[in-house]
Amino acid sequence: MDDDSKANGTEAARDPRWGFCEAYGCPLFGTVGRAGKWLCFCHFEADAGANDVVTRIIRGHFAVYRSVVDVRRGLVSERWPLVRREVQQRLVESGYADLLPDERDASPYRAGRPNTPQWLARLERFLLDAVREGLRELAVQDGTGSGMARRPLASSRECVARMRAILAPLATREPSARWAFDLLDGIAAKPANAPPPEAVRIALEAIRSPAGRAYVVNAADEQRERWRVALEVLGGTLADIMPSRVPGEDDEEPHEVTA
Ligand SMILES: [Zn+2]
Repeated sequence: MDDDSKANGTEAARDPRWGFCEAYGCPLFGTVGRAGKWLCFCHFEADAGANDVVTRIIRGHFAVYRSVVDVRRGLVSERWPLVRREVQQRLVESGYADLLPDERDASPYRAGRPNTPQWLARLERFLLDAVREGLRELAVQDGTGSGMARRPLASSRECVARMRAILAPLATREPSARWAFDLLDGIAAKPANAPPPEAVRIALEAIRSPAGRAYVVNAADEQRERWRVALEVLGGTLADIMPSRVPGEDDEEPHEVTA
C-alpha cells in the first residue's frame, strides 16, 4: 500500500485534484482523514448525504475559500508577502473586511501583532460557521429539526454584515485602485463612519501605488480636494499624499511657481 502510493507519486502530481478535499466539487484542501478519504474541515463535520449542500455553501463564499486556499499555499512560498496582500485586497473588495488579520489573531506572546496561522483559523472558522448555519436552516425548512443545538449568531457574522453594507459599492467592482478612492469619498461624506484601520491601511497602499497615483492625476481638482478632506479626517500627515493640484496640469499661473 505504502509502496503503491510512493510509486503513484508522479501520477498524483498530475491529478489536478490531488491534495484537495475528496467531496465532489469541493474547492478546499483535504486536511482531515476519515474512512480512507481526505476531507476538508467542513465536509469532515457533515454527513456524506449533505456533501453537495456543504460544497454549495462553501462556494457561496468565493473570496473566503479562495483566501483559505491561497494562504495555505502561499504561506510556504517566496511570494508570501504578495499573496498576503492580494488576499487582503480580495477580502476588502468582496465585503469581508472583518476577516482581515488584526489584533484578534495576535499570539499571546506578541500582543497586537497578527499571527498568520491564527488568522487562517479564523478564515476557516467563518466557512465552518456558514456551513453549520446553512445546514441548520435546511434542517429547519425540512422539518427534520436535526439534533443540532441552536446557537446564537456569531457576533463576527453581524460585524461582517455591517461591513458588507459599508463596503457594498466595492463588492461589484473590478479590482482597481478606484475602490480605495470610493472609500475616501465615503469618509469625506461621513467622517464619523471611518472604516476599520485594516481597510484604511490597504486603501492607502492602493492610493500610493502607481495605479492610484495615475487615478489622482486624472481626477478633477474638486475630487482631489474631497480626498484631501478624507485623508485629513484619517489624521497625521496623510493629506500630504494628495496634491491639492497636480503641477503642470492646465497651469494658470505659470509665473507664480515658488521655489
Ligand atoms: Zn470539502
